[in-house]
Amino acid sequence: MSQTAQISNQTRRWQEMDARHHVHPFSDQAALAKKGARVITHAEGVYLYDSEGHKIIDGMAGLWCVNVGYGRSELAEAGYKALKELPYYNTFFQTTNPYTAELGERLAEVTPDGLDRFFFANSGSEANDSMVKIIRYYWSLQGKPEKKVFISRKQAYHGVTMTAASLSGISAMHPQAGLPLPNHAHIDFPYWYGMGGDMDPNEFGVHIAMKLEEKILEIGAENVAAFVAEPVQGAGGLIIPPDSYWPVIQEICHKYDILLHADEVICGFGRTGNWFGSHTYGIVPDTMAMAKGMTSGYQPLSAVALGPRVGDALHNSGEEWSHGFTYSGHPVASAVALANLDVLQKDKLVEKAGGETGEHFLKHLHALADHPIVGETRGVGLLGAIELVKDKKTRERFEGDTGGLCRDHCFENDLIMRAIGNTMVLSPPLSITKAELDELFTLARKALDATAKDLG
Ligand code: PLP
Repeated sequence: MSQTAQISNQTRRWQEMDARHHVHPFSDQAALAKKGARVITHAEGVYLYDSEGHKIIDGMAGLWCVNVGYGRSELAEAGYKALKELPYYNTFFQTTNPYTAELGERLAEVTPDGLDRFFFANSGSEANDSMVKIIRYYWSLQGKPEKKVFISRKQAYHGVTMTAASLSGISAMHPQAGLPLPNHAHIDFPYWYGMGGDMDPNEFGVHIAMKLEEKILEIGAENVAAFVAEPVQGAGGLIIPPDSYWPVIQEICHKYDILLHADEVICGFGRTGNWFGSHTYGIVPDTMAMAKGMTSGYQPLSAVALGPRVGDALHNSGEEWSHGFTYSGHPVASAVALANLDVLQKDKLVEKAGGETGEHFLKHLHALADHPIVGETRGVGLLGAIELVKDKKTRERFEGDTGGLCRDHCFENDLIMRAIGNTMVLSPPLSITKAELDELFTLARKALDATAKDLG
């Protein structure tokens, strides 16, 4: 898709307005202004349409969020109805609304056992930020206010507020704001392909999980509040843990009385083939963050789910809890979330992600492993990663931004695939059909061929 000379006057006008006034997330502002942003005008199913008439298959479901696909009228109609009935009211001051009340009950039916109280916010960052406040308060109620340190992982992405960015372990996110804040520590993550060396995956999984114990002992368990991690690390390179990893982590948390927070912002709502990544990996978290697939991105909405330990303590604290957002439990977002749950359940999208759709996706994904520049493919549910390497045997990487090169070839072929360093990542809508998956992977192979050709 060329962003060059012959674009329409309408597109140019949008680009000019955008370049003058819009500060874009995670972008080099001046470089983007010069190039001109792609203008997405509408979307249907798994396809995006831009202002220049391109039809683009969205292999990332937006930002890993449009689980039911675009253009579902059930969600639009639910939002419209709520907008007319109750466009806004808050949930402060002893008030609720029918949509938010029902949403809690519906979520409790699909979350892991015991996680049945929900604090609502607007974004994944806010959910994780709120979790830190809830857990600090929990320990304070237990008479252990010194348990303040949150251990998370290198390359983790938990959001961008000051606290969520401190939990995040992507080092580029820290220096511009002088982060991380105090009381945050980061340990290694279970990236077997990149760091496993000669160890077999399960041996490596245990080795990396033990880093948690090392860190707890270094800081002192009496100072550690919680371990925070995504079941499958998403934006940090789609790191699928070896089977041995999570059981050891869980055991260490129990041994040292450290709470476990699962960040399910990507993994939730079917992405790994079960309702939550915690189901897929047998994790029993104390608290959980959810967002994205909760409304399939149709409305901003997130939640922190609380298990009995933290939930009961908060519930029975006997005092007012000093936290909440103007839009916590927003009626329109809640109505859309209910319609989204209906679609996920009616169309059996979670079962399909763990069944026929997921199997077809993984079959195609793993077939790419024979490509000359692909070192490893890995996937679970409808999450997939493709590692680009110069040498399949030694796992030596290409120099330079090979991922970016491949991503640009995807764009030219009207496919959205994300590059995280030299790892290509896929996370299509769960509603994708087998024929659309066939098309997606034909385009992906074409992009890999073009990348290999450029690299000589
Ligand atoms: N947690 C995870 C695992 C994420 O992937 C993201 C966003 O990609 C977030 C938190 C932050 O969510 P938001 O962008 O809605 O603040």
